[in-house]
Amino acid sequence: MLNLVLFGPPGSGKGTQAEKLVQKYGLVHLSTGDIFRANIKGETDLGKLAKSYIDKGQLVPDEVTIDMLQSEADKHADAKGFIFDGFPRTTFQAEALDKYMTSRNTAISVMLALDVNEEELKRRLLERGKLSGRPDDQNPDVIQNRIDVYNRETAPAKEFYTQQNKYCGVNGVGAIEDIFNALCAEIEAAK
Ligand code: AMP
Repeated sequence: MLNLVLFGPPGSGKGTQAEKLVQKYGLVHLSTGDIFRANIKGETDLGKLAKSYIDKGQLVPDEVTIDMLQSEADKHADAKGFIFDGFPRTTFQAEALDKYMTSRNTAISVMLALDVNEEELKRRLLERGKLSGRPDDQNPDVIQNRIDVYNRETAPAKEFYTQQNKYCGVNGVGAIEDIFNALCAEIEAAK
């Protein structure tokens, strides 16, 4: 199985690249942000809980996020592989993901981290907010908080994958196609 973690700060292009990678490699795409937003739209209990965190730019608690991710992944018993987009976002989530992969007799193949400077992230997020209508992309204070949370709580999870020799940083600024080709080159090298 080919199991990818697509990592990076908010606005680094994870969703855009995930869509292209899914097409090329036929993987199941699991975006925790997308799953939360679907729950918010459907007004589920999980959606109501998640919204209270997402609107402030905070992380949804680990236990809730991990349980949700696992039950979504369990729906795909025959998957050729997964692309995890926006998960894990803490070292605790990374550890839980490893345990889950082991329970399926597989493992994460590579962690691809998109590198984008803060100024560019803010520009992209505000631009996306105009089109997507996502409330968390429209408020500069919430955007700043998401970037701070990334630096404080999420970036340290890189270390977890570095220790396993699975960390791979990729420049996330430039043409979408060039970034995609750089990601594919890393995937081929990790296969
Ligand atoms: P995203 O679409 O990946 O930018 O995620 C939107 C929001 O959903 C984040 O700002 C968090 O509030 C929440 N979220 C998404 N993924 C996770 C995760 N793995 N752990 C905790 N919160 C998450």
